[in-house]
Amino acid sequence: MQLTQHFTLAELTASNKARQLGLDNTLPPELMPRLVLTAEMLEAIRRQLGVPVTVTSGYRSRDVNKAVGGVTSSDHTQGHAADIVAPGYGSAYQVAKALAPLVSVLGIGQLILEGVKGKQWVHVSTRVPDKPANRVITITDAGTQLGIQELP
Ligand SMILES: [Zn+2]
Repeated sequence: MQLTQHFTLAELTASNKARQLGLDNTLPPELMPRLVLTAEMLEAIRRQLGVPVTVTSGYRSRDVNKAVGGVTSSDHTQGHAADIVAPGYGSAYQVAKALAPLVSVLGIGQLILEGVKGKQWVHVSTRVPDKPANRVITITDAGTQLGIQELP
């Protein structure tokens, strides 16, 4: 099922972890409007970057979120968030750097550059965090920093 022109329900609910562990990652129907909003944010990001955007993790059921070590309050469990890469544009750092000044324009509530355990990706959520300072942050194995910081 197509959520927007370039993003499908299958792509935004796919989970290798769920497949490996036999966990259900079906989107509850009541979260569909939120996932469509998330897909619309991804369309805006794709237009801005001018290249295809790959979703590495979108919606996660509570069980899947626990299995991947996500925080309990994760926006992924509410259909607000997606982890993305855009290799056609550049590294996760370059993608985050390009999006950071445009969060309001693109409908990004929170932008996180994540570099954890040797993997790098950009987390985007339609939900604005309670603390405005957390809107654009970088998370690495060393901890959390404000703004988009070069990854080690
Ligand atoms: Zn994420």
